[in-house]
Amino acid sequence: MLDALDLAKRYGPVTALAGFSLTAAPGEIVGLVGHNGAGKTTFVEIVTALTRPDSGRVTIDGKVPAKAKGLVGVTPQHLGLYPSITVREHLELFGRLAGLRKVALAEAIEELGVALRLGEIMDRRTGALSGGQQRRTQAATALINKPPLLMLDEPTAGADLETRQAMLDVVKQRAGEGAAVVYTTHYLPELTELQATIAVAREGRIIARGTYDELIEGLPGEVHACFEDDEDVRISTTDPTKSLMELLADSEQTITSVEVRNADLEDLYRSLAVGSDT
Ligand code: ATP
Repeated sequence: MLDALDLAKRYGPVTALAGFSLTAAPGEIVGLVGHNGAGKTTFVEIVTALTRPDSGRVTIDGKVPAKAKGLVGVTPQHLGLYPSITVREHLELFGRLAGLRKVALAEAIEELGVALRLGEIMDRRTGALSGGQQRRTQAATALINKPPLLMLDEPTAGADLETRQAMLDVVKQRAGEGAAVVYTTHYLPELTELQATIAVAREGRIIARGTYDELIEGLPGEVHACFEDDEDVRISTTDPTKSLMELLADSEQTITSVEVRNADLEDLYRSLAVGSDT
């Protein structure tokens, strides 16, 4: 569905993308993560035809972005709503632009209203809504016509727990119906919940790509033990259980508490992505 190969993009002296390649298949959720400035939003902007790459190639279902706008639903990182019209009017506008009419449009608005819990705010002007409510509205405009590719750039930033969960549920449902989804986030547990495959961006390209298990395999977890004299020790280890047994056998002091943690996405993120913007 989405096929991006070797994209490069510069803004004056700043390199935003340098050899950025990524694919997303129908039904796949790709979690795109990386430090601030890694190039994620630039990539989303290229796929949604808001900007053009200096070189490289992107196709969406075989079409270049400028000819594929109807195939892509996007939630931009910065909200782009019309403050003087209501949530319903936004959905009618975006639905009509996507080709929905009459019954189909009314049904799509009804369905999204329930899924994203827009009921109470449906007839309020978006300029008078809270940040989280505006984000829900923005997401709804991207999802109104069930596009086959969703480019969701930090769709849950600033959202409360309920909004976050509603958004994740809709994204999972759309992927289940066959949509390809690129989902950028700094909140890594979302990607586990979405059962996303993961792409880590750094300095304008993808430096790691795979399933959660593939990327986590081999990374060290941690054993954290506290002793009765209030000292503590942290051991970075690929086999936390074995390290704990060794610690228990070797320790001359009584251990008062112990925490064993296998490697998780945070460890992957730290080992691959963090560091280059410090
Ligand atoms: P974040 O996680 O902070 O959203 P990101 O991974 O989305 O970051 P981008 O917004 O794509 O990163 O930015 C990549 C680089 O390109 C950064 O150095 C940024 O400052 C630069 N950049 C992006 N857009 C522009 C622009 N319109 N003009 C100049 N520089 C830009």
